[in-house]
Amino acid sequence: MSALRVIVVGASGRMGRMLVRAISESRNARLVGATERVSSEFIGCDAGELAGVETLGVQLVSDVTSCTTADVLIDFTSPVATLKHAAFVADRAMGMVIGTTGFDSEQLQQLHTILADSPVVMAANYSVGVNLALSLIEKAAAVLAEDYDAEIFEAHHKHKVDAPSGTALAMGHALAAGRSVELDDVAVYSREGLIGARKSGSIGFSVVRGGNIVGEHAAMFISDEERVVIRHEASDRMVFARGAVRAANWLVPQGAGNYDMQDVLGLN
Ligand code: NAD
Repeated sequence: MSALRVIVVGASGRMGRMLVRAISESRNARLVGATERVSSEFIGCDAGELAGVETLGVQLVSDVTSCTTADVLIDFTSPVATLKHAAFVADRAMGMVIGTTGFDSEQLQQLHTILADSPVVMAANYSVGVNLALSLIEKAAAVLAEDYDAEIFEAHHKHKVDAPSGTALAMGHALAAGRSVELDDVAVYSREGLIGARKSGSIGFSVVRGGNIVGEHAAMFISDEERVVIRHEASDRMVFARGAVRAANWLVPQGAGNYDMQDVLGLN
């Protein structure tokens, strides 16, 4: 079987470099293209050297359309950039693995429309552990009903621009699904001032930003007598990069469709 041909967009970003490393360490995948935004100081640099692995002979370019044919494009950039990359993917017979978070509902709708006929994996978190935690949260929420107050906590590094994190929102959706409610109807995203007593059935979110925290998440079910906590800590971004490369390998034999990491791991 020939190695999967992969384009990494945003290849000098925190995740971009990890993705290049994960691909270079994988026996089943090969980097064939790498991009950065037009104003990046890294245009023309070798993607492998930037990622701290061997020279790969793939230079960062600013125009994704100048990349050679590939099977999959992996995108951990920004919502606006991901929409542009989606249009490129939709024009070609290739798949897309999306890790970008922070889309608003209009951008999400646009993304789904553009990629309606493409194979796509999109996940707020590519770690195997987090995806297992999402399954556990849905199960726990079905058992620990509204007499358990549900709260979601997340902490990330100081550079993160969206909040709550995509993973915290995914946890909220899993929790809401376990209780057969819509997250939008019960979510409380901020608390300040005289907010009154906690509303039964609500799902609260709290957020910490600081230093170089890779990602911490916890779903808490709190009753008067006990507290159940499902918690995940990422200590190295490579966990997301390896998960995304695993998703890319899984995606290629699939037909057009909108998949998530639960599908990749067979947890659905
Ligand atoms: P980052 O800012 O370090 O990297 C993003 C890179 O994308 C930057 O280098 C930027 O220059 C580049 N970029 C922006 N526009 C571009 C364009 N038009 N073409 C090419 N490159 C472009 O950010 P990061 O920490 O690597 O995170 C990126 C995204 O991935 C964020 O949305 C973050 O929340 C998400 N993320 C997801 C997971 C997951 O498992 N799903 C894990 C970590 C981060």
